[in-house]
Amino acid sequence: MAILKVSRMGHPVLRQKTKPLAPDQIPGVQQLIDDMVETMADYEGVGLAAPQVFQPLRLTVLGYPDADPENPEDLPLTVLINPEWVSLSEEKELGYEGCLSIPDIRGQVPRSTRVEVRALDREGKPFSLRAEGFLARVLQHEIDHLDGILFPDRMEDFSTLTFLEEYYRYWHKGAS
Ligand code: ZN
Repeated sequence: MAILKVSRMGHPVLRQKTKPLAPDQIPGVQQLIDDMVETMADYEGVGLAAPQVFQPLRLTVLGYPDADPENPEDLPLTVLINPEWVSLSEEKELGYEGCLSIPDIRGQVPRSTRVEVRALDREGKPFSLRAEGFLARVLQHEIDHLDGILFPDRMEDFSTLTFLEEYYRYWHKGAS
């Protein structure tokens, strides 16, 4: 296991559209998946896509390794290989997002409120999941990374861009 260096906005690897993994490539990325999970946890992120660790692969991890299954806010650790998503709702909602590749910045991004994602798990088995709210947002953010898209590309109102300290001071739920 290793904590990997995270690529930052401006590095071309974050702008490449990734190629799907072939079945015979999946055994070769098991160490990378473990390292991505460890890196995400160390940076206290909720998602990490392969281009963020300089790998132009269609692979992302999200959630918390020690998630409480009783708590729906606590996203279980999920590995997605070759994910694709469709919206299940016309509705979009605004929410603040951050990104380990854009440190210490938050901004409001409109996202579909309900999505269905199809992907392969780390063993290469197909699965699908339906998500809403925060998980739907995280899935859209991470899959965007696999298409070379960063959250500012999706923003409609740049006046909501904020540094993290000011975010917690003025815009975070519960801010005074
Ligand atoms: Zn990100």
